[in-house]
Amino acid sequence: MDVIVLKNNNLCLELNPSDGALIGLTAVKTGWKILDRPQLGLSFRLLVPIPDRRNNPIYGEKQIVSDIKVSPDSSSAVFIWNSLVSEYGGRHDICLKVEIKLVDQQVLYTLHIDNHSEYVVENVYCPYLGDIQPPPGAEWFKTFLYNYGTAQEWSLWPRYQNMRGYYGIDYPTQFGPPSACGAPTAPFCLLRSADQGLYAGVYEPSSELVAWHTELRPGYGSSIDSRVPEELNIDGKDVAIRFSAVHVPYIQPGESRDLTPLVLQSFEGGWQSGVDIYKEWRNSWMHTPDLPAWVREPHAWQQIHINSPEDELRIPFRDLYKIGEDCAKHGVKAIQLVGWNAGGQDQGNPSHDPDPRLGTFDELKDAIARIQYMGVKVVLFSKFTWADRATDRFRNDLIRFAIKDPYGDYYMHPGYQYQTATQLLDINTKRLIPMCFLSEEYLRICEEEFKKVLELGADGILFDECLHHGPALLCFDTGHGHRYGAPVYANDRKLIQNFARIVHDKPDFLFAGEACYDWEFEAYHLSYHRSESKQHIPLMRYMQPHMPIMTAVTGFDDRNMINQCLMYRYIISYEPYNFKGHLDDFPKTLEYGKKMDALRKELRDYFWDGEFRDTCGAIVTTADGEIHQPYAVFVNAKNGHPGLVISNYDEYNSAVIKVKLENSYPLEYYRLVDDSQWRSARWGIKIPPCSAAVVI
Ligand SMILES: [Zn+2]
Repeated sequence: MDVIVLKNNNLCLELNPSDGALIGLTAVKTGWKILDRPQLGLSFRLLVPIPDRRNNPIYGEKQIVSDIKVSPDSSSAVFIWNSLVSEYGGRHDICLKVEIKLVDQQVLYTLHIDNHSEYVVENVYCPYLGDIQPPPGAEWFKTFLYNYGTAQEWSLWPRYQNMRGYYGIDYPTQFGPPSACGAPTAPFCLLRSADQGLYAGVYEPSSELVAWHTELRPGYGSSIDSRVPEELNIDGKDVAIRFSAVHVPYIQPGESRDLTPLVLQSFEGGWQSGVDIYKEWRNSWMHTPDLPAWVREPHAWQQIHINSPEDELRIPFRDLYKIGEDCAKHGVKAIQLVGWNAGGQDQGNPSHDPDPRLGTFDELKDAIARIQYMGVKVVLFSKFTWADRATDRFRNDLIRFAIKDPYGDYYMHPGYQYQTATQLLDINTKRLIPMCFLSEEYLRICEEEFKKVLELGADGILFDECLHHGPALLCFDTGHGHRYGAPVYANDRKLIQNFARIVHDKPDFLFAGEACYDWEFEAYHLSYHRSESKQHIPLMRYMQPHMPIMTAVTGFDDRNMINQCLMYRYIISYEPYNFKGHLDDFPKTLEYGKKMDALRKELRDYFWDGEFRDTCGAIVTTADGEIHQPYAVFVNAKNGHPGLVISNYDEYNSAVIKVKLENSYPLEYYRLVDDSQWRSARWGIKIPPCSAAVVI
């Protein structure tokens, strides 16, 4: 049989009919040969541990295909392997079916496994690309995938960034951290140069773990600077970078399973073009909830922490109204109150009882009501992810609901250190145990804790660390009512949807979370993250142009973070002294923040209600023609006209900027955040140091 060719107007795949290996992959529009050395072709890889030999792989390239069906119009190929031979276990009664199908612009991989063997199928690498070459003319080639509101970019070439211990791997390897290694938190991965790339993404809203993985073979040329060998073959060994989606399904003996389908698609342009592929698919199924009316308006917050595990006991409940008065005086709309729970922040989890040393339950309730009377919202910091290991409640009871590893032990997060040298030296840190949201009984416990917040009369919760489960990815305690090796992110939305049912009669109750991953916006209204970096990539803002996202502003003259807020439509969370201080502690920051919020209120059709497009649609250059960063394009919600926010992060030098819109629409006027005079943009836009201009 000849090589099987599947081709649409986006990708051309060449498949070897004898082993199903993908031996050629080309981006049709640009001619980029992503994989063009047939000897590097791969199909899949499994891990099937046998007694006394855990690391027992099954290599697809060593298997003979049992059956192939190619559709008459060459739009799909189905490969079936009726049994598989592992490296150390002989032949196994495991049947694998892989369908590769052209769908519009994409290639869709669907996988099915019937495991009739006596062993567990732990890992499935598929699709498995034996090589990914940088596009011709590229200066760099790297990954791009979601993590904590922004993007992880790992260099693939010319340097390859290794991310796992040298002692544990044969080849430099990339896997993300547990909270952002793949679906569901990072549901797609781009492999890209400056002007084109390959998109790989899940094609089903499944919480099953699918981790993105790359590997450099045979290793570095020069290890001192992590350089990929410059030749295609070194000492008789092909130089290649492998890429795979790694499923971790733990398919039991006698079990059959469909794995998460995946798509591949090439794209031209920057990362935004790749993310657009994801957004189009995500928008086909996901809906965000109606927002409480007050968070739909431009506004600002203060975060205030009143106690840590080391007992500062800063503000008794009866004095909290003073924080409310500060907020009312300065027009700050909401308070995020932290450390109000017994024992202080990050202690006693998952308890949501007020700390009696700060006052009684009723004193906190009264304080909240008094602040609300001033027109200021009170949102209580909450946490359901962990149990505090050092509590009797955990040791005697909650330990039952801890996420368990394959050895029957609980996972552990190392915790966070506060205030005293003893604790900053990590001597008495509270260790945090990830709890299993797949346990309905634990979800009931969370609901009881949530009701305490409701009884206090809060305007909402901010669930800190809702974005992850520490090191845990799967839970192996079937006593929780789930299968062995079940994905622990699966009920992240259900927890909040359960809470929402409890407060169905309060449409203005806010569900906020920390750095919500994209699918969490199906349940959450607002996400809070920290983004203090000049290189911050506003990936979540690009994925969710209109959802409320808030960021911390901590500096005493924090103009550039406020410029960032305007540029990326982030709500300001004022946090002097790392959220231990008062608004009047940093008047410079507060004054500039107020001016920024007034400006975006005035121009809300552009910079609040408009659609955020990141840098798409405009080219911004300096006087000498260099690309200027950062800036953002918004599309006016009412008239569709573009408007720009351009920041000059430089602390010392003014910038003179020229803007060219891709659709040649004229931009006529600009003004600065702290200078209300409009000026003509025709001869350039002059932005002083640490300043931002709006251009319309
Ligand atoms: Zn569990």
